[in-house]
Amino acid sequence: MLVLEIKEGKSCPVFVCDVCKEVIPSARQGVAVYKENIGQGELRTFYTVCARECHELMETHFENENNWGGWQPLEYVMHWLCENMKFKPLKRDPYEI
Ligand SMILES: [Zn+2]
Repeated sequence: MLVLEIKEGKSCPVFVCDVCKEVIPSARQGVAVYKENIGQGELRTFYTVCARECHELMETHFENENNWGGWQPLEYVMHWLCENMKFKPLKRDPYEI
């Protein structure tokens, strides 16, 4: 899940693992997992989890529900999110806007 963490008095959005509730420290250490079986135009929740043990636990959970969908590396999801939001990363400190 996406949450705000306060660091040095600033609100910083960070991803937290939906299984162990720890902050995912880098995009390379997280994955987004989601359920299958939705139709065109429907919205689906994706869960962010640690790339190893928690990812395996979430896969097993979905498989037990017979609703396993898939997963993507968190860095891909962040790239696609920027594309979908028509956003290019800022070249300056966002706190100085
Ligand atoms: Zn975790």
